[in-house]
Amino acid sequence: MGTGQRRVAVVGGGIAGLAAAHALATRESAPEVVLFEGDTRLGGKLHTSPFAGHPAIDEGPDAFLARLPWGTGLAKAVGLGDELVSPAAGKAAVWWNRLHDIPQGLLLGMPTDVLALAKSRLIPWPGKLRAATEPFRPRTSLDDDSLGGYVRRRFGDAVHLRLVDPLVGSIYAADTDHFSLAAVPQIADLAGKARSILVAGRKMPKPSPAAGPVFYAPVGGMGALAQATARAAQAAGAALRTGAVVQQVARDGDGWMVDGERFDALLLACPAAASAVLLRDTLPDTAAALATIPVADVAMVTLAIPTAVWPEHLRALSGYLVPKPVQHLVTAASFGSQKWAHWANDDHVVLRISLGRDGLPVLHLDDQQLLSAAVQEVGRHLGLDLQPTASRVTRWAGAFPQYRPHHAAKVAAIEAALPRGLALAGAGYHGIGVPACINSAQKAAATLAE
Ligand SMILES: Cc1cc2nc3c(=O)[nH]c(=O)nc-3n(C[C@H](O)[C@H](O)[C@H](O)COP(=O)(O)OP(=O)(O)OC[C@H]3O[C@@H](n4cnc5c(N)ncnc54)[C@H](O)[C@@H]3O)c2cc1C
Repeated sequence: MGTGQRRVAVVGGGIAGLAAAHALATRESAPEVVLFEGDTRLGGKLHTSPFAGHPAIDEGPDAFLARLPWGTGLAKAVGLGDELVSPAAGKAAVWWNRLHDIPQGLLLGMPTDVLALAKSRLIPWPGKLRAATEPFRPRTSLDDDSLGGYVRRRFGDAVHLRLVDPLVGSIYAADTDHFSLAAVPQIADLAGKARSILVAGRKMPKPSPAAGPVFYAPVGGMGALAQATARAAQAAGAALRTGAVVQQVARDGDGWMVDGERFDALLLACPAAASAVLLRDTLPDTAAALATIPVADVAMVTLAIPTAVWPEHLRALSGYLVPKPVQHLVTAASFGSQKWAHWANDDHVVLRISLGRDGLPVLHLDDQQLLSAAVQEVGRHLGLDLQPTASRVTRWAGAFPQYRPHHAAKVAAIEAALPRGLALAGAGYHGIGVPACINSAQKAAATLAE
């Protein structure tokens, strides 16, 4: 290490911070990298642990999108390329007084096939007829940037509430009436180009099995991706300090002081609210803007249910979603050991039940209340008396940033005002999913290194 080597501090050891540390440390003429993680565990939301005799069951995300290159790219770069698995075929359902198959031909919940929609008993006839008028409606303005507003205007309330909101909302724990349309690029791109989604969607090529899996996860769970990235960053020379909550950052000439230690550049890969606290004295306007990015809390309840009581008709399902109007606390249930072949076990099925979302707080409840709510609600949905043989409650405060309409413009303004030598990365800014977090981290690392 030469004495003139630049020093870069990374705050936050979730997947964004780890990917940034890895990207910086593996560059040619790499800077000295020090990562500060407040927790004693690296990985942030990526957390996998043993459950009911299984070595590795995720407590947070259980997969990443394969279509985006950054998740797969990082997994390969850190040596997990041969350990990626994808979900076993299995269809999801929507619960509306009973389980309904999700109709064919949807684009993130929006219909592209009127006949398939007509056959579904999830949407009542007036809702189907309203959706069928979509091709005759004038172009919808995108100015309000509301996902819910757009879908309601094009397809009506029933399609919005029973399909799009549960399908998209469950990904981000969002209430899609208050979520940015631009933050869902598959819908926003089509909406920007075409007047009618039904007409444009019908012309889109059907997804082919040759395109490969939609999702990947390491066989050791998503925590394995964090651990492998941490190992690779360390092997390349990065110092990863755990139990190191950064209390203060301050400018020092053209560099930064991090809790009294000098660095040439600073990458904040902690949640936006934590970055807001750290920048409050140094960059008050940036801090104030960061503090306006809201978050939703969720709880994840994991259950082992004896196979003997698990009915045959549920065995082909990967899980189900619960639309807003019929939600109590549970928003979705994933039948994990049916979704992932390597989680399967003769004795029990593993369920991962999500509670809470934007506008539906749950963390005021204690673990026992969350567990009871999950057992009772899912039991009622499925018509079963669930008697779990093992259970686990994971509380995720600030689980998902909520991208309100015009989020992208807000982030662009925040980033434009950052001084040289400071960058932001992670779920608060350019995408909430794991691949998007990795991409934001790698871009931020490149900016700081240059
Ligand atoms: C239950 C759940 C399920 C999900 N499912 C999926 C999924 O299936 N697929 C998918 O792609 N995405 C999923 N996501 C979203 C995705 O996991 C997250 O958006 C992503 O992991 C966030 O990564 P991050 O590094 O930005 O933030 P985090 O993982 O939140 O990491 C930030 C880190 O910063 C640390 N920190 C905060 N303040 C300080 C400080 N002052 N000093 C030092 N350290 C600090 C924190 O301790 C934390 O470790 C899910 C999220 C949750 C909660």
